[in-house]
Amino acid sequence: MSCARLAVSAIAALAVIAAIAAPAPPARAAPTQLTRKTLPVNGGTIELSVEQVSGAPSSPADIERWVRRAAIAVAALYGGFPMRRVRVMVWRTPGRGIHGTAFGSGLVRVRLGVETPPGRLDSDWVMTHELIHLGFPDLDERHIWMEEGLSTYFEPIARARVGQVPVEQVWREMFRDLPQGLQRAGDAGLDRTPTWGATYWGGALFWLLADVQIRERTGNRRSADDALRAILAAGGDQSRHWPIEQVLAVGDRATGTDVLAGLYRRLALRRFEVDLRGLAARLGVTGARLDDRAPLAAIRRSITAPEPGRAR
Ligand SMILES: [Zn+2]
Repeated sequence: MSCARLAVSAIAALAVIAAIAAPAPPARAAPTQLTRKTLPVNGGTIELSVEQVSGAPSSPADIERWVRRAAIAVAALYGGFPMRRVRVMVWRTPGRGIHGTAFGSGLVRVRLGVETPPGRLDSDWVMTHELIHLGFPDLDERHIWMEEGLSTYFEPIARARVGQVPVEQVWREMFRDLPQGLQRAGDAGLDRTPTWGATYWGGALFWLLADVQIRERTGNRRSADDALRAILAAGGDQSRHWPIEQVLAVGDRATGTDVLAGLYRRLALRRFEVDLRGLAARLGVTGARLDDRAPLAAIRRSITAPEPGRAR
């Protein structure tokens, strides 16, 4: 699976470049040495290998801290690291970019620009996004939005729960970016809209709506976390290929609802509309400050609270 949650402007720029000249394969900076280290994480181990390049501002310790932070956030999300043994390979490329790919074999490969400053690693989302993929099954290509949406939705939430990103920032940025997941003229549901916006943000919208609806229907006692953990507990990690029906059935059984199946029919099989402004208002994300008097404020607080399902 390939992951590239690029900014829209970057996509447009790339399209322009591609129109002028055939894109070259990503260049790799010449490494001076390869360092290997085994990192124990909650419920598993990470075999970390890093290409070192002399003069790069990010030290091996900076890179190790970056991987550890992401692993802590992901282990907290799943109630333990999602695979017993994971290999993380950090390749060095020119520039400052960070691009990752997760594989079903339990490998995460990240291309890290040699000029990336250490501070950028501390606020990075890519490593967390890729590690989240490991705890969810591989699906048929037309459902890739469900995998990418899961990582897109839960990455900032997972980091907020362990104090790595401010809660308010998570909600502001989520509702800033979600409109990119709405359907455009001619679209016919997420299964039939293989665009960047539908894949990443349409998928994230599915998981946000699922999380909110599960919590509404269960008095905030169950959540999308329960669905995720049940799917993983049933063996549904990235090394396994599951039909979508199995994901929906196992997830819904865990919450005692039919929210996932209902949302799948509504968002995946036909063109849909979602009132994002109304949803933001109900969650209390519209004003200058997060609004704790909003009807669904308790649900919003629970989603980003340190212990899932419990308001702070
Ligand atoms: Zn991804």
